Amino acid sequence: MNYTSSRLSSDDLLDILFLSENATAIYTGENVVIQNANEMMLQFWGKNKSIIGMPLEDAVPVLKGQPFIAMLQNVWRTGNTVEGIDAPAELEIDGELRTSYFDFLYRAILNPDGTTRCILHTATDVTDRFLSQQRVAEMNEKVEAINKELSDANQQLIVYNHDLAESQDTLMQLNNNLTESETQLQFAIDAASLGTWDLDPKTNKFSGNDRLKSWFGLRPEQEIPLEKATDVILETDRLRVIAAIQQAMTYSSGGGYDIEYTIVNPENPVPRIVKAKGKALFNIDNQVIRFSGTLQDITEERRASEALTEMNQRLEIALDAGNLGSYELDLETGNMVTTDQYKLNLGWPLSKPLSLADVTEIIKPEYRKHVDKQRKNAIDHNTVYNAEYEITLPDGTERWISAAAKPRYNKEGRATRMVGVTYDITESKTNERRKDDFITIASHELKTPITTLKSSLQLLNRMKDDPSPKMLPKLIEQSNRSMEKISTLIEDLLNVSRMNEGQLHLSKSKFTIAEMLNQCCNHIRVAGKHDLIFEGDKDLQVFADEHRIDQVIINLVNNAVKYAPNSREIYLIVETEGNMAKISVKDNGPGITPDKLPHLFTRYYRADYSGIQYSGLGLGLYISSEIVRKHGGKIGAVSELGRGSTFWFTLPL
Ligand code: ADP
Repeated sequence: MNYTSSRLSSDDLLDILFLSENATAIYTGENVVIQNANEMMLQFWGKNKSIIGMPLEDAVPVLKGQPFIAMLQNVWRTGNTVEGIDAPAELEIDGELRTSYFDFLYRAILNPDGTTRCILHTATDVTDRFLSQQRVAEMNEKVEAINKELSDANQQLIVYNHDLAESQDTLMQLNNNLTESETQLQFAIDAASLGTWDLDPKTNKFSGNDRLKSWFGLRPEQEIPLEKATDVILETDRLRVIAAIQQAMTYSSGGGYDIEYTIVNPENPVPRIVKAKGKALFNIDNQVIRFSGTLQDITEERRASEALTEMNQRLEIALDAGNLGSYELDLETGNMVTTDQYKLNLGWPLSKPLSLADVTEIIKPEYRKHVDKQRKNAIDHNTVYNAEYEITLPDGTERWISAAAKPRYNKEGRATRMVGVTYDITESKTNERRKDDFITIASHELKTPITTLKSSLQLLNRMKDDPSPKMLPKLIEQSNRSMEKISTLIEDLLNVSRMNEGQLHLSKSKFTIAEMLNQCCNHIRVAGKHDLIFEGDKDLQVFADEHRIDQVIINLVNNAVKYAPNSREIYLIVETEGNMAKISVKDNGPGITPDKLPHLFTRYYRADYSGIQYSGLGLGLYISSEIVRKHGGKIGAVSELGRGSTFWFTLPL
């Protein structure tokens, strides 16, 4: 059997082997000499068959610096097969260096002794696969990143969703609140009986609620043109209101509107006082786009406040008329707000503030505790406190004050203020004291003549069977004098009470004053201690109540005798002064100090004379002044200490 002819040569085999799709090459030796390479491998290298027989490094210089040659040398030396997957290789393709990826196998074909015969290199270009794998990986990475982003976004979305749900809740709540506020507003508008209005600046027409329209005399369905609205405003208020509306609708004004005016609606002649409040709104061009507000009927309020003001005024007048001072005391600070009269009552400067401490200081020490107690008592029991006390004015004068006050409490029931009045009662206190003195004096004055009369009558009684001719006329004379004194005193008392009741009646006649003076005061002339000297107009006549004028003269002459016992001459002077007759009684007595002069004609007033006791009721000059006054005349006294006194009075001619 001859196999040889039928068997393929090594070259044939190699050719067949090299037909493989795979790039194939065979190398030998330490230098990696290319024994053969197929078309595909040559293509990879970018070479042709001419390189066969060359060391790989020389044939494909681009491989220098890449790991392949060393790897092949290693395979040659060790006989171990090396496999690579996706191995990058720098190759020159079409004159350009490019990286391609290869799956490759360096297989050592061994000699029987184990040394390497040759290396079979097969390679497949897997660049497309590798790159697509890489792209897939990249894509995967990207997808992963996107996924992550998506998941994050999702997370965010969940949060947003949650927030949205929450804001929706809030919105709903707000909406509810708004509805509620609107209802409340409407309720408030109704409760406050407010009129509401809204002016459209484009049309100059108002819309308003029914209440407002009724105030303006309009039916609910009627619109309100601006002129119509201003027409019903009281004429004296109209221009002011129009000006205020114009002002509010001007951007620079800020849009506020707050005014009071009176509406006189033709269908309701009773004027209605209203308070209008509103606000104008402007767009970004500062043009007014809306003007709306409310109207409040304040007629009652105004009336009440007017009534209150009037009442306060009346109260003030009454307080002033009665010289009543009023005050308000802050119980916490002790500060006081007072009327001027209050300060006047205490002799305190009007411009200076006053406190409770100051008042306490003015009150005489012996009254302070009592006043304090009364005040505390009133606070504890919410009662009016009343006190009368004496004060010492800064100038040293002493006065009597009557005070009344009532505490005021705050909401917690604590007394915070005290409101009260004071009144200067010095005069009535003085009168009271004079009256007391007077009663004592009157009783004393009456007692003396009555005692004398009593003893004279006792003596007369004793001698009634055997009257002594010497004693009898004396006793009768004494009794008569006592009776005279008693009846004069009683006459004075009666005169005073008559005068108090306004019952002093005059029966006037025409008489010559000089003649009346001649006949009066004979008792003085008879006693012979004093000379009554007439001076002046002998013919002057008056139309007056002769008896009453006689009484005045007697009084003045008696006083001269009583208080100027050492003045021998007593002058009676008659003269004309304008259209009055002036009659004066002049003595050369001790005179009267200036501080006493103004009081002489006051009821019960009696000046003290140190050391000397004069009897009297302090009524003579008072009665005289009342008689003169009733005639339309004046009375007065001129005196200087040590220079005598002149008492004068005038009567209309
Ligand atoms: P009475 O004499 O009863 O005291 P009058 O009213 O007559 O009351 O007088 C009042 C006071 O005026 C007297 O208390 C006295 O102090 C004073 N008086 C009146 N006349 C004189 C006088 N001629 N000279 C000095 N004092 C007088």
